[in-house]
Amino acid sequence: MNDLPRIERSEPRSGTVLMHGGTVLTMDDDARVLRDAEVLLDRGRVAAVGRALTVFPGTRLVDARGCLILPGLIQGHVHLGQTFFRGLAESRHLLQWLGDRIWPLEAAHDDESAYWCTLWGAAECLLSGTTTVQDIGIGPGAGGYLQALDDSGLRAIAGMCLMDAGEGVPAALLGDTDRLLADTESLGDGFETTDGRLSYSINPRFILSCSDELWQGARSLAARRSWPIHTHGMEHQAECEAVRLLKSGRDEIDYFEDVGVLEAGLRLAHGVWLEERHHARLQQYRMSVVHCPSANLKLGSGIADVVALQRAGIPVGLGCDGAACNNDFDAFEEIRLAALLQKLRHGPDAFSGLDGVRLATSLGAQALGLEDVVGSLEVGKRADFVVLDGRRPEMWAAAQADPHDLVAFSANRSQVRHVFVEGEQLVEDGHLTCFDLEEIRRQAERSVAALVARCGIDF
Ligand SMILES: [Zn+2]
Repeated sequence: MNDLPRIERSEPRSGTVLMHGGTVLTMDDDARVLRDAEVLLDRGRVAAVGRALTVFPGTRLVDARGCLILPGLIQGHVHLGQTFFRGLAESRHLLQWLGDRIWPLEAAHDDESAYWCTLWGAAECLLSGTTTVQDIGIGPGAGGYLQALDDSGLRAIAGMCLMDAGEGVPAALLGDTDRLLADTESLGDGFETTDGRLSYSINPRFILSCSDELWQGARSLAARRSWPIHTHGMEHQAECEAVRLLKSGRDEIDYFEDVGVLEAGLRLAHGVWLEERHHARLQQYRMSVVHCPSANLKLGSGIADVVALQRAGIPVGLGCDGAACNNDFDAFEEIRLAALLQKLRHGPDAFSGLDGVRLATSLGAQALGLEDVVGSLEVGKRADFVVLDGRRPEMWAAAQADPHDLVAFSANRSQVRHVFVEGEQLVEDGHLTCFDLEEIRRQAERSVAALVARCGIDF
């Protein structure tokens, strides 16, 4: 994207940092909480967690007294390329939402609009405490979208969204199958970074918009490049019914098994309508599910049974999905909603605040194959974390209160003070450190107006 106008970016603050005086939610296997503790970062990694740590000259001290320090939040399913569509696709069922609004809007993207749209969404994620996203991508404009993820500083697993078939899909979104597979591989080659911050995935959108040949090609590419496959499925009953009609009575898991993509370690967004009879196959093929409670409620899709999936040993992560169906990227809200919905479904003692926070940290990392990299504050892991202001009225509690419950049920983006990714401070005192939010907004306003004019919808 050599000729793409991009944000002016300054280098973030990095180096050795000691956060001191805060309450550390380690999110390790024992969910240890350390009060009045310290976290030492060095060369992008967590170097030590504890008290009275040894520090060397030149270490930057960050006062975290009164704050909660926890791993950066992980969102396993987002569409940052739909951030411009916020408020433009309201009150519709899933298939109507896609056909009437989302697909025509996505078809109008080019590299320039995709860049500012994605950067705008990424800025919101960072300011809300999200440090890792798995993004399912867009078709037209995919190059600009990937460049924005790179420039944002987020940790990201991302790829081009693939579609080559389907009723009501605009021609601009439908690619030739072989061409799509070649294009996505070539974009992946240019995206992945050696430090592991950016990695690539193969993203067929869903069964209704992808041919058998595309799924088979995705499976081969996944095997050849060791890239995961990220897709949507079992989201809405109308979608499930349409798949059974199209695929001779097979449901989505049957179909995925037949085309061989279960073997590729499929990451399934939604899974609202998964049943007990699917669990053994999901477990056998090491498939993961990403729960998106706000989007599922807003599109009237249903409530995923997270407790049942976890009892069956299936990794479950959490995601905000997109600005066109959520309508924001505050993962703290998703934690709260996920926990409340499982309490409604299984009883108030079936899903704790800690269970909710795990979905967006340690278990969220496991769902994306990142459990050795991020998701807990442990020595050797990447220094991705968020610092919340615990002195605000809504976060204040007696010393006996479990801080996991405070994060799950009281926290939201407004307490986010500092955010680090790979040891680099990308948010300081609630502000982005590397680029000017106002500049992104100015560019986004200009760019979204042009995109809406191009899309051909009479709003
Ligand atoms: Zn989605």
